[in-house]
Amino acid sequence: MIMATQNKGKLAEINELVKEFGIDIMSMADAGFADLDIEENGTTCQENSFIKANTVMKLSGLPAIADDAGLFVEALEGEPGVHSARYAGEHGNDAANRKKILEELSKRNALTKEQRKAYFICVITLVYPDGKKIVCEGYCHGTIALEEKGEFGFGYDSIFIPDGYDQTFAELGVDVKNSFSHRAKALEELKGKL
Ligand code: IMP
Repeated sequence: MIMATQNKGKLAEINELVKEFGIDIMSMADAGFADLDIEENGTTCQENSFIKANTVMKLSGLPAIADDAGLFVEALEGEPGVHSARYAGEHGNDAANRKKILEELSKRNALTKEQRKAYFICVITLVYPDGKKIVCEGYCHGTIALEEKGEFGFGYDSIFIPDGYDQTFAELGVDVKNSFSHRAKALEELKGKL
């Protein structure tokens, strides 16, 4: 199985979660697609997840799995949402994306916890060469922190405080995150369906 991502953080998280099943998910680089850049032009995480998995399945002839995630911030009318990877302009500039969210929230005086509500979505799609498709979704609700905190994880982890905690994903670390994250929930569903 190949994972349609160039994001090493995601591949590591997914491989950690499926290792108990003896499943070995290859990276795009392992499969010879180190430079492949797939245009994510869907309007939802569901569409983008399918576009990525289907592209890699067609190129490789192997089952391909892709996840597409997004952070939806209530006070920003659901932004960055499907634009999460390029919210500040440049694709994959996580530091700039986090800074923009904090700035946009401060412009809107979104200071209370209630006003800083947000959630992550993760959609995982597995496409087989015969066209069979498995789609799974997971959600994780929380709030946007007032400032960046923590060293672990990637993307928006250092500004996202999951409900029930007072630390960010980046402070809580990978083990805690993987026990209930949006990606963990989608993968849990995938394990059942597999
Ligand atoms: P994509 O699913 O790779 O397109 O991710 C969209 C954006 O959301 C990227 O900027 C990622 O860094 C960010 N992102 C995806 N999953 C997570 C997560 O689990 N924690 C923090 N940020 C994430």
